[in-house]
Amino acid sequence: MSRFQVRKVAVLGAGVMGAQIAAHLVNVKVPVVLFDLPAKEGPKNGIVTKAVEGLKKLKPSPLGDAAEAALIQQANYEEHLELLKGCDLIIEAIAERMDWKLDLYTKIAPYVAEHAIVASNTSGLSITKLSEVLPESIKPRFCGIHFFNPPRYMYLVELINTPTTRPEVIDQLEAFVTTSVGKGVVRAKDTPNFVANRVGIAGMMATMIEAEKFGLTVDVVDDLTGKKLGRASSGTFRTADVVGLDTMAHVVKTMQDNLKDDPFYSTYATPKVLAGLIEKGALGQKAGGGFYKKVGKEIQRLDFATGEYVAGGKKADDIVARMLKKPAADRIKLLRESSNPQAQFLWSILRDSFHYVAVHLADIADTAREIDFAMRWGFGSSQGPFELWQSAGWTQVAQWIADDIAAGKTLSSAPLPAWVTEGPVAAAGGVHTPEGSWSAAEGKFKPRAKLPVYARQPFPESLVGEGAADPLKSGTELFKNDEIRVWTLDGEVVIASITAKLHLISPLVTEGLIKAVEIAEADYKGLVVWSPDDVFSAGANLESLMPVFMKMGSKGIAPEEKKLQDAMLRIRYANVPVVAAMRGLALGGGCELAIHCARRVAHVESYVGLVEVGVGLVPGAGGLTYIARRAAEMAAAGNSGADVFTFLKDGFLSAATAKVATSAHEAKKLGYLLESDVIVPNKDELLHVATATAKGMAEAGYRPPHKAVFPVAGRSGIASIKGQVANMRDGGFVSAHDYHLAAAIADVVCGGEVEAGSLVTEEYLMALERKHFCSLLDNPKTQERIMGMLQTGKPVRN
Ligand code: NAD
Repeated sequence: MSRFQVRKVAVLGAGVMGAQIAAHLVNVKVPVVLFDLPAKEGPKNGIVTKAVEGLKKLKPSPLGDAAEAALIQQANYEEHLELLKGCDLIIEAIAERMDWKLDLYTKIAPYVAEHAIVASNTSGLSITKLSEVLPESIKPRFCGIHFFNPPRYMYLVELINTPTTRPEVIDQLEAFVTTSVGKGVVRAKDTPNFVANRVGIAGMMATMIEAEKFGLTVDVVDDLTGKKLGRASSGTFRTADVVGLDTMAHVVKTMQDNLKDDPFYSTYATPKVLAGLIEKGALGQKAGGGFYKKVGKEIQRLDFATGEYVAGGKKADDIVARMLKKPAADRIKLLRESSNPQAQFLWSILRDSFHYVAVHLADIADTAREIDFAMRWGFGSSQGPFELWQSAGWTQVAQWIADDIAAGKTLSSAPLPAWVTEGPVAAAGGVHTPEGSWSAAEGKFKPRAKLPVYARQPFPESLVGEGAADPLKSGTELFKNDEIRVWTLDGEVVIASITAKLHLISPLVTEGLIKAVEIAEADYKGLVVWSPDDVFSAGANLESLMPVFMKMGSKGIAPEEKKLQDAMLRIRYANVPVVAAMRGLALGGGCELAIHCARRVAHVESYVGLVEVGVGLVPGAGGLTYIARRAAEMAAAGNSGADVFTFLKDGFLSAATAKVATSAHEAKKLGYLLESDVIVPNKDELLHVATATAKGMAEAGYRPPHKAVFPVAGRSGIASIKGQVANMRDGGFVSAHDYHLAAAIADVVCGGEVEAGSLVTEEYLMALERKHFCSLLDNPKTQERIMGMLQTGKPVRN
């Protein structure tokens, strides 16, 4: 099978989904052309143009860099169908009408390249039915590709084949969606609403029914069914408001129309309150009201009895909240046995969800793995229903469900399928085992897909019961303390995994990093700084410096800070390449660690910045030194003849305003990532790419950079910056302390009170960093900011 190359993708339909899918393709550097109907008036691309403009305003932003909206090529079906010939993948995302979709397929068919894959993003139509009008030549290359809203942030993509889809086509698409688009693929059967929406929306309907039964209000239900239950923080009703009640009703209607024989059919009836809201046009967030309504600053909730909005914000009972903190087995037992109506409600919705997936597994998914991943990735649950059931004790919970079925308490009288209580699943204590996950249709445990793309995931996301290797216990350990583990997986590259909370950098972490460099230099090709969770490092651990500060004041901090700076230089000048594998937060000291590495391999969702002014400090682990050095390097590299100061301004501004890049691409713009750095769309491929990068650099004969002196902007630069910031202070735009901090940053990045063009070393600039850092620690305004942050986690404005 030759490699499936996606040089360009066409997205048909510039609505909510199409436009955002196009935006995400831009985020992952896939060229995209976005089509819609020709506009009736004005330029023919009018509809698409409006959609692309809309992307720039949407929150959360569908684009990693709003300016890149311009990279979406705009097209319409009247003038540009020829463009389709150059596309290797065509994603159809037009309005949910079978006849409209079929018309469009007929229209585009003559322009589809003979190798191209055509896929529909439909939520509720049958993929097989859609495929039936396609010419025989396209049918084998047609399937479903179901993204979730918002596509940039939702990890799940369901792929659905038809009886005529060629198996290698969907394998190729799975590889592309995983590696290049960065998503988690779940294969779904072609049944109504596929997997995630089928199980998720049925769960929401069940929740609404049980909430009414137990007389709970929407705010309490959301508090109970949100984070506390390990689900998306918006809970149930707020999720419905965000999704849009019309969209939800649409998904429900698909079930009403197509699942008449489903034993849970009666639960798909549109609840009266939901129907009432839709009739009134209260469609949720987008309509300014739904189950909740924002009135002034207050969020009010709908009172089911009166249909009026009343004060909301009521939380779960403490006793129930405490039960939810217990391990799964205790938690479910306590909820079930408690007479508290909230606890009874929770047991009921969990039981309903277990009952539902057990009854439907054989029909809707290949194995239980697909259902659990679909619920994690498509609905934000920390565990899928099967996993939770399995962790709570399979047989015991199965017995409780059976008892409730017998007692007529469940939403359907359908018995649990025999495989739940007899045979291999009962013997194994659940559906997920090291051998594989249970396929009810085939009556056996099936291992994960062995597609080559998954060889790029040394530690894929795993489910309870699979017995997956814990990366922090894998490989060969080379060094370890309480906050860092240094190890190797392949015997060629050393991995340093910070294990401290939020991966904050403390003296223990610094010690481990230095140790890792030493070990790598002695016996290995390179070093990768990587941890198995979704944060690189949220900064320096200020709390760990408290004891020294209390005893010796800021004087005691200077030597500690110097050790950290020395560690940064040790990393920068290591004899082996050090690669930062970044994901999530890389803030303050975390950002400084990354910029001192020889290369950065960053997950596309990386949040990078020097945020120290938020706690009244200046970057003190080489961050400002980096800004000064980079400005000198850029001035030297350009032909513009522009001086260092020209290149310094952006770096200064980013540090002085604590600007955080909200994607890896934006981090490149801010200069925290370089052109030569690598951006990785899939989180689970980060370690693989970082390790390969370190090895590649070693193979290419890596040498550390020369230690060099470089020119700084000096006192004239400082004066110029201070002048501008003074104006802002006098105009009331920034506080006196902000001015003070900006002046300190200006002093370091310009190299202090020296002539413009003076040559300095990194050590000299780092000494300036220390001077300002320590003197700020003695400043009461800074102390106020630090205490505020440590106590509330929020920045203090003073
Ligand atoms: P939308 O209403 O926002 O956009 C639909 C687009 O289709 C519009 O730009 C419209 O101009 C175009 N269109 C309408 N009639 C057409 C026709 N006859 N021929 C060609 N184009 C036409 O819809 P959406 O929410 O983006 O949904 C698009 C698809 O994605 C649907 O199949 C839907 O089921 C699916 N989907 C939606 C969501 C969601 O949350 N909105 C999530 C996943 C999948």
